[in-house]
Amino acid sequence: MSRFLSSKYGRLEAYTPGEQPTDMKYVKLNTNESPYPPSEKVLKAVNEAAVSMLNLYPDPTCRTLKRKLGALYGKNEENVFVSNGSDDILNFSFMAFCEGKIRKVKFPSISYGFYQVYAELYGVDYKKIPLNNDFSISVEDYFGNNANVVIANPNAPTGLTISLEDIERLLCETPDYVVIIDEAYVDFGAESAVGLIDKYPNLLVVGTFSKSRSMAGARLGFALGNKELIADLEKIKYSTNPYSINRLTLLAGEAAVDDNDYYMDNCKIIADTREYTKSALIKLGFEVTDSKANFIFAKSNAVSGKELYEGLKAAGVLVRHFDNPQITDYNRITVGTKEQMDILLSEIAKILKEKN
Ligand code: PMP
Repeated sequence: MSRFLSSKYGRLEAYTPGEQPTDMKYVKLNTNESPYPPSEKVLKAVNEAAVSMLNLYPDPTCRTLKRKLGALYGKNEENVFVSNGSDDILNFSFMAFCEGKIRKVKFPSISYGFYQVYAELYGVDYKKIPLNNDFSISVEDYFGNNANVVIANPNAPTGLTISLEDIERLLCETPDYVVIIDEAYVDFGAESAVGLIDKYPNLLVVGTFSKSRSMAGARLGFALGNKELIADLEKIKYSTNPYSINRLTLLAGEAAVDDNDYYMDNCKIIADTREYTKSALIKLGFEVTDSKANFIFAKSNAVSGKELYEGLKAAGVLVRHFDNPQITDYNRITVGTKEQMDILLSEIAKILKEKN
């Protein structure tokens, strides 16, 4: 830290992203990317833009992409916000809707680590609500109409979902605060809350092209909500970086929406591979949660979470282990192709055999 850093950031603990190592080629199952490539149409759009138009700024309104996303979700352009990854949108949402002790925020104690980082970055009072013993979320714990709420559905790293009925009960109980449902993993088997946005002006649904749409490297996220909430996010975007989405990503995103069927078919394959891998892990003595995301949250009865993570890494398979003592026995394993999962399973079997 230099002596020039603003004192308000001195004690800030930044988010630690999953490893992106370059030392060797891993079977990479640690950051929930899709194992499948972007569709042909997306690649073509990016190539064309790259050769001809990089000298020009992109459209800051992102109108075409917003229209396409609006049509896909049955909403208007004014209900759609897009930016550089859903992290950007969560960041803007904390900036826009949270404020010190006046507009606090609640989120689950085990969830996406960035919620706490944003709260601390903006000096927002936050409350981490413990999960139930089985890692499930009881929405009643968030009632009170005294703070914004952020919940990932499915939650990460557990993969567990909450029902639309529960989301609706939460929205009814929190009418004066924003409820953000982070749907980064929704396409792999959960129910989207997008259908509730007309009824609840305090609902913001956040999505991403990073997982189900194979575009983690392009950085594109979106949010759907009441037009006033969206206008607030636009205000923040235009006050920080109006060109937050580059030209290549904008075109890639438009083409990806056009090719929605390709991506939804991939999601079905990933969901099948998830269930196949879960069963195989159970046979190897693991406990797994009922994940509806593109990852599995698994705990071995024979080897510690850290040991398994390290053993797999040495064997060229990367999974994600979290230092949090409550989940230290677990690893979060991204669902890759069936071939990748077979490599994972055979490396796990070897590690378990060595233990015996
Ligand atoms: N929400 C959750 C729950 C996530 O796990 C992630 C990915 N790490 C994000 C949001 C952010 O995704 P992106 O910025 O790639 O859209």
